[in-house]
Amino acid sequence: MLLPMKDLLVRASKENYGVAAPNVSTELDARAVIEAAEELHAPLILDVAYMATKDIKFFGSYLTRLAEKSNVPIAINLDHGFLYEHAIDAIAAGFTSVMVDRSSESYEVNVRDVKEIVKVAHATGVSVEAELGHVGDGSNYEVDGVTALTDPSMAKKYIEETGVDCLAVAIGTAHGEYKGTPHIDFDRLVEIKKIVGPDYPLVLHGGSGSGDENLAKACRLGINKVNIFTDLMIAAKNSVADVTNYRALWATISGAIKDQIAYYIKLFGGENKAWIPENYGVKGNK
Ligand SMILES: [Zn+2]
Repeated sequence: MLLPMKDLLVRASKENYGVAAPNVSTELDARAVIEAAEELHAPLILDVAYMATKDIKFFGSYLTRLAEKSNVPIAINLDHGFLYEHAIDAIAAGFTSVMVDRSSESYEVNVRDVKEIVKVAHATGVSVEAELGHVGDGSNYEVDGVTALTDPSMAKKYIEETGVDCLAVAIGTAHGEYKGTPHIDFDRLVEIKKIVGPDYPLVLHGGSGSGDENLAKACRLGINKVNIFTDLMIAAKNSVADVTNYRALWATISGAIKDQIAYYIKLFGGENKAWIPENYGVKGNK
């Protein structure tokens, strides 16, 4: 079932678990993660980076078809949309959510740009994710892990001003592989959730390599979407290291990605959380 991302996340927030959001860029990884979600009866978010596909409209039509015929709730989200045009392309491609990343800009520019896309996206039933504070890069973790963390006192104001459906927070995770040990600021997370309210969904970027205990705890304390990319790629890479039969190559990669995301779905508490929306399939509803 293809649903707006907001539907998946508000429910996850109310029921206190995290939805796994793997980055996908091909048929192979998209099918692998959907199979894992179906076997675990779990909701799923497909994150797609604009640059990861050569033709977002082609890939979007493919992913929406896969999602529509699946028996679990699936949302398709543009990951880190940096340009207005990218968000529009994703909406035209059938995505049910777009992330507008202006986290490197000033607060004013961030609010202005996000607000503009929220207006367009909401008019077509598409959800919007945005980031306050800035999640940096694991290779520069010493600096990025402690600077530009989300200011809890600004969170509510930001949500009200932009109208955004879920908020990506910077609480000590980082993208890519960590150089050093990740330290998650759980007190900050608890404070943000308290301020935005128990039903408002929060997003964690840079889930890979952050540590199982940390991720499970973050989901218990209010994170409702966890982005996973690097760990899927590492699992895929490691799985083929000893493959000698070239015919087994794709199946081995696919199996490794499926196993890795299945592990995370369970860790985040998403297992058996799939549901069928009341009006699903009724004209006017996706
Ligand atoms: Zn990210």
